[in-house]
Amino acid sequence: MRKENRPTLANPTNTLSILQKYDIHFQKRYGQNFLIDANILENIIEAAQITPNDCVLEIGPGIGTMTQYLCESAREVVAVEIDQKLIPILKQDTLASYHNVTIINEDILKVDLHAIAQQKNNGKPLKIVANLPYYITTPIIMGLFESHIPLESITIMVQKEVAGRMQAKPGTKEYGALSLAVQYYAKPEVLFTVPSGCFMPRPTVDSAVIKLTRYKEPCIRVNSEKQMFEIIKASFNQRRKTLINSLNNAADLSINKERISKVLYEMNLPQTIRGEALTLAQFAQLTDLLYS
Ligand code: SAM
Repeated sequence: MRKENRPTLANPTNTLSILQKYDIHFQKRYGQNFLIDANILENIIEAAQITPNDCVLEIGPGIGTMTQYLCESAREVVAVEIDQKLIPILKQDTLASYHNVTIINEDILKVDLHAIAQQKNNGKPLKIVANLPYYITTPIIMGLFESHIPLESITIMVQKEVAGRMQAKPGTKEYGALSLAVQYYAKPEVLFTVPSGCFMPRPTVDSAVIKLTRYKEPCIRVNSEKQMFEIIKASFNQRRKTLINSLNNAADLSINKERISKVLYEMNLPQTIRGEALTLAQFAQLTDLLYS
């Protein structure tokens, strides 16, 4: 669709007029910072590579600013919004003229996404696009991956600092359990940063758009994903401690120092190494050896 024909909720005047018409006040507890910049929306839609064959899941449509763009580009859109006050706006006003959208008033963490993928896309992979509520970014992303729903990509606005953590490499201060979890399931690409002036109200942090492209096959092999993530979590719980001490101190793991020391020796790694120095492949090997 040509840019000049795009819907126009994405500016301060039109956003304010919808909010005033329905007497809506921003709900801080739901992380409501609505996008008011059409260029940013164009860039997000372009980055998500939505085609007329796609079924898109949008998390938190707000007043439908991005949803309108998605409806114009995709075959089918499912929009999950927790705030019930916004539902009449979406259904009776901003999305009323679109017949390819389903609006669900629910907490995204409680929705059966397998059923949605089945009903709306014959079980084929969904594309997810969102300007995420920042207070639950990590649970949402981890929930999407760990539920193993059919999923092609996730193109999302998040806090700039969180985007950096998702893409971080070993040995950096941003590197941690979130980096490893995201990089196990997907290829992360931070695409561009977004100034706070592009939102209403302005968030107190900078934002960035990141695309996570789901691997068809996991990029590394490990005998137990669950055990590997327990090891990763324990390794970063006490970041300044050596890996041996962090894992030994983790009460729910019950792995003794001698065992960890022996495995590090087998892996040719120094006994003083910290978790932040290990790659994903090394965490997989460490887990397999510790539990072999
Ligand atoms: N997509 C809109 C935009 O870009 O202008 C709004 C984005 S705003 C940052 C986040 C939206 O997510 C809000 O509409 C908020 O009510 C909704 N939200 C917050 N927590 C949610 C949850 N657990 N499940 C579904 N939606 C949620």
